Amino acid sequence: DIKQQPLDASKLVVEKTHHQKALKKPEELIFGRNFTDHMLTIEWNAETGWLAPKITPYQNLSLDPATCVFHYAFECFEGMKAYKDAKGQVRLFRPDKNMARFNKSAARIALPTFDSDALTQLISTFTKLESRFIPDARGYSLYLRPTMIGTQKTLGVGPPGSALLYVIASPVGPYYPTGFKAVSLEATDYAVRAWPGGVGDKKLGANYAPCIVPQREAMSRGFQQNLWLFGEEEYVTEVGTMNFFVAIKNKKTGQKELITAPLDGTILEGVTRDSILTLARERLVPEGWKVEERKFTMKEMDEAASEGRLIEAFGAGTAAIVSPVRAISWRGKLVNCGLKEHEESGELTMRVKNWMEGIQYGDEEHEWSYVC
Ligand code: PMP
Repeated sequence: DIKQQPLDASKLVVEKTHHQKALKKPEELIFGRNFTDHMLTIEWNAETGWLAPKITPYQNLSLDPATCVFHYAFECFEGMKAYKDAKGQVRLFRPDKNMARFNKSAARIALPTFDSDALTQLISTFTKLESRFIPDARGYSLYLRPTMIGTQKTLGVGPPGSALLYVIASPVGPYYPTGFKAVSLEATDYAVRAWPGGVGDKKLGANYAPCIVPQREAMSRGFQQNLWLFGEEEYVTEVGTMNFFVAIKNKKTGQKELITAPLDGTILEGVTRDSILTLARERLVPEGWKVEERKFTMKEMDEAASEGRLIEAFGAGTAAIVSPVRAISWRGKLVNCGLKEHEESGELTMRVKNWMEGIQYGDEEHEWSYVC
């Protein structure tokens, strides 16, 4: 029996570029358009396991047209960020969470799993090497895109016998460069993002392409994102590529409640979602709030809005941290999400963003912040 080699960060081989890219002006950065000098790649095959990790100059991949990723969507990915703190140190935010999710996604599509700490170490080394690309100003960061693809050259439908794990990095600016801009959503019932027993809780590329046509539809009617509903009950699940939170005053008790959908297999297990829930339980509950993971419907939100009990609503994800919601189009009417006409964000949404950034940028020492 030949034992498969585990992923081993100590075997890293680094080949540095001879052509350093010119840095873009921070204000000219467009999300996901510019990449750093290098990439991290790690090959795997069923006979040997993980090969030695490599950092090389950023370059094209060369793949046979029969490679299984192109035919059967053997692809999963992660989205995480590295931040520069006041001392110039580079920090990741809860990388263990991304690694755990990456492993779960890979396992679901018969791609290999890996040692989470080893990949975190490798990403940390890679990120430090690229730190000149991170502008040291609030709101700027380095977006990291760990990706895994099946690379076996075959049209046979089966578990890939080889795979490539790679990480690329893209410097990004603040999601809302001129301050928050509240978005309007279209409650979407004619298309479904995820369903029980499906793979909506995994970060598979195959979950994303089918959402673009509904998004384009929503945009054509003047709404920036879809609010994905599920079932005849019209449960609220997620917004675009973010988890969704709503703050409502309880009808009977008047208690303020922060609510998000539960992880029932149809919701991506957002790192931002989990972080906000944890911080809200620590910081809002003592102020008298209730924090809940439970199913809620569009009807419940509409009722709260019409009775003046909908305090605010926001999306939550790595890219924007939080994204305030102004209104939701539903059954031909516009459900107002608590903002006054001149406001772009509610108070809670603002507070949550500041809590998160305080930790991400290392202003507040916290176990979630991983110094590279
Ligand atoms: N839902 C979906 C469908 C997403 O693609 C993302 C982005 N990864 C999120 C939620 C938010 O997750 P996170 O907070 O980990 O970025």
